[in-house]
Amino acid sequence: MSQKVALVTGGNTGIGKTIVLTLASEGFDILLNYVVMEEEAIKVKEEVEGMGRTCTLLFADVSNYEAVESMMEKAFTAGRIDVLVNNAGITRDQLLVAMTEQEFDAVINVNLKGTFNCMKHAARKMLKQRAGKIINMASVIGLMGNAGQINYAASKAAVIGMTKSIAKEFAPRNIQVNAIAPGFIETAMTDKIPAEAREKMIAEIPLKRLGQPQDIANAVAFLASDKADYITGQVLVVDGGMVM
Ligand code: NAP
Repeated sequence: MSQKVALVTGGNTGIGKTIVLTLASEGFDILLNYVVMEEEAIKVKEEVEGMGRTCTLLFADVSNYEAVESMMEKAFTAGRIDVLVNNAGITRDQLLVAMTEQEFDAVINVNLKGTFNCMKHAARKMLKQRAGKIINMASVIGLMGNAGQINYAASKAAVIGMTKSIAKEFAPRNIQVNAIAPGFIETAMTDKIPAEAREKMIAEIPLKRLGQPQDIANAVAFLASDKADYITGQVLVVDGGMVM
């Protein structure tokens, strides 16, 4: 069997970094996309190489259609992509009355259009392979909404709709497409939340703790494995029981 390869967007920090290290420990060679924090990307690359796997760094802003097209050309020069994890995401939180057009567009462009761009430019080659897995990072906010996050909630709800549609398009070619909806996970994204709001959030989580990046990476590793070959078009909620 040929060596399996996974591409992870936003693989340099937070949840993406843990996904990269977990997939590498499961035996995948890694294609690691990042856009700003190059030093972090280099550190993760060294960690992956220390595990005996290869790691190619792919700089690209996922919201840029042409940049992602070039990134995917480079990605496929090594051969194939078995698993595509669309993890890159941002927040620009504001109540509707205060939200600017730029804040709305920025979140839609990275979270939704970035996911579209990556799937679009990987599609032809993955379809030719007649095997593969796509895992899109959604959020519980896309399922339940959140005051101050209309842009983020809209982007993640749309990612779920897109995931289900592409699951139907790609199923005849044996490509499974699923989404993961994390709850509140301890990363730079949630570090911004004030302590009091954090305590309130934890009180509402049945398992009474924030999630860890590893909780999400474990779900990715499962959906990326052949143990999940008969699962497609699903949203796996990993949130300590918030949404049930
Ligand atoms: P994070 O720590 O802020 O990391 C975000 C990642 O996305 C970084 O690697 C960043 O790369 C990358 N990124 C941002 N804009 C990009 C762009 N235009 N092009 C390429 N990469 C870009 O966030 P996180 O908490 O790990 O979140 C990862 C994913 O999980 C996101 O999709 C997020 O919406 C989702 N999620 C998170 C939570 C949570 O509680 N943390 C909950 C639900 C869903 P650079 O460092 O190079 O900028």
